Amino acid sequence: MNNNQSDKNLSDLKKYYLELGIDERVYDFCSDIELSLKERFERIDKTAEQNQIKVIKAMQEAKFAEAHLNGTTGYGYNDIGRDAIEEVYAHIFKTEDALVRQQITCGTHALTIALSGNLRPGDEILSPCGKVYDTLEGVIGVRESKGSLAEFGITYKQVDLLPDGSFDYDNIKKSINEHTRLIEIQRSKGYDTRHTLSVAEIGDIISFIKNIKPDVICMVDNCYGEFVETIEPSEVGADMVVGSLIKNPGGGLAPIGGYICGTKECIENCAYRLTSPGLGKEVGASLGVTRSIAQGIFMAPTVTASALKGAVFAANVYEKLGFKAVPDATEERYDIIQAIEFGKPELIQAFCEGIQAAAPVDSFVTPVPWDMPGYDSQVIMAAGAFVSGASIELSADAPMKEPYAVYFQGGLTYPHAKFGIMMSLQKMMEKGLVLC
Ligand SMILES: *Cc1c(COP(=O)(O)O)cnc(C)c1O
Repeated sequence: MNNNQSDKNLSDLKKYYLELGIDERVYDFCSDIELSLKERFERIDKTAEQNQIKVIKAMQEAKFAEAHLNGTTGYGYNDIGRDAIEEVYAHIFKTEDALVRQQITCGTHALTIALSGNLRPGDEILSPCGKVYDTLEGVIGVRESKGSLAEFGITYKQVDLLPDGSFDYDNIKKSINEHTRLIEIQRSKGYDTRHTLSVAEIGDIISFIKNIKPDVICMVDNCYGEFVETIEPSEVGADMVVGSLIKNPGGGLAPIGGYICGTKECIENCAYRLTSPGLGKEVGASLGVTRSIAQGIFMAPTVTASALKGAVFAANVYEKLGFKAVPDATEERYDIIQAIEFGKPELIQAFCEGIQAAAPVDSFVTPVPWDMPGYDSQVIMAAGAFVSGASIELSADAPMKEPYAVYFQGGLTYPHAKFGIMMSLQKMMEKGLVLC
């Protein structure tokens, strides 16, 4: 392509954006930022490439076949597709076994199964990285809740991270006692402004704890972390890694589901809890969902990369405008979540309106704050997703409380993530809330 031709394509692209309601200043501002991210994006692509090959290798090792794409009904005995998917996951996460099911309704459910399947009355959970994810507070009983683990005589302790984000090794050591049975490590920051743990950091804390108490179960809440790095927490000592299929590993295609990968014993306990003691993994019809779960895990590495590029782009755009981005514009990434502290409710509202306006589905609706089950404040959410609530698709949510931070994640394709961020800035400009 000669230069004139390439200039013309560029201006055609700009014209499209202008037609879609993006102001020229927003476009130019964002384009300059994008140009500066080339090397960063190349590194993300390299990670995706490595993970893509890892997934293909896992599918080949499991001899994944066309026959596996057919589902079963009823009890689901001898569902070879379901079993093959679980073998694929076990290969990817390098674990002895896996439970990957559409009967697992969401990430919180997967975590609940992992906890309640492996804990018994009198056992204690320890979180060495501070507060657990909001919905888990109800599950564990940190927040009083019917049916919580607390009601079954399971106790909970947590040790907060130190102000610099590192583990409080002294207090972690002091908190381990004869009842400590399971360590809950949350990889991603969730609705918090702490940093996200790298797989290496997770490995450090696991070996520290196993040195003190070798038979403790180390469980990692892996939500949003899958495929961001080239190794997973199960490769650095975690006995169970747990997540949702409507986040990274579902690749945007899985319409429902959760996974738990781990040791044979942990997974057996989980399966007895998911279905019934004695039945375990043997039941659970896959209906017609196996194809989507298989295609989803195949797509997951590049979809995760698209989401990561969107997050890096957003951090750079908003940091340049003077807002605090966590992680910041240049920091290494360990999950796909981007938090931006806007400090004002009008700004998070405008941000969410922009994300919504850029969506392929429901672009015409206006997001408003509402009460969500499991959360202790109102939450505003923007999502125009093919799979309802899927946060691997471009979405933003913000609890309506200080510091008025938006948690932005997803993007099945990078161009869509980019468009969403440009639109969010556009909405803020239109309301006179920021200038660029
Ligand atoms: C999303 C998430 C969960 C819970 O998943 P749901 O599917 O929303 O129930 C748990 N932990 C973390 C860190 C998450 O990001």
